[in-house]
Amino acid sequence: MDRYISQGKQMGLSNVALLGPEQVFFDPRAVLKCRWGCEDYFNRSIKCGPRGLSQDECIEMVRRYQNILLLHGHDAHLLSKAVLAVERSAFLDGHYFAFGIRYCKICKVCAVDQGQPCPQPDKVRPCDQAMGIDVYRTAREKGLPCQVLQSKDEVQNRYGFVLID
Ligand code: SF4
Repeated sequence: MDRYISQGKQMGLSNVALLGPEQVFFDPRAVLKCRWGCEDYFNRSIKCGPRGLSQDECIEMVRRYQNILLLHGHDAHLLSKAVLAVERSAFLDGHYFAFGIRYCKICKVCAVDQGQPCPQPDKVRPCDQAMGIDVYRTAREKGLPCQVLQSKDEVQNRYGFVLID
């Protein structure tokens, strides 16, 4: 995993932490916060929709992976790019189930947010909240910063995951 941790840091991330499957915390209230109170849930379903997965299925899938990288950065676009880059590296190394979890910000301007079709739907990965992951707890238990911000001027701590084996 060291190679993928270095790759993430070389791309400009602040931290890349290695988690075991039990160190990813789930809470059904994350799904509640996803379905209501978020942005336009139904119109942005390519980014946000659960695609028919139940939370139990999401938990079971994540628990099958023994090596889970938690990627931490302050730039949403950079973080999305890093998640896909690390996923690709792991896949090419033979980890054929390598898979990213991250609210999609691959494009600097999201076409879906502008009401247009997504030009690269193959790049979209599931949003952690839609899968029921409690990112606050997962990051904090690993000693990484994650708090409710009081204004948009504060430094944002953003997280993504790459599930490897
Ligand atoms: S338009 Fe770009 S940022 Fe928006 S969902 Fe598609 S790939 Fe992601």
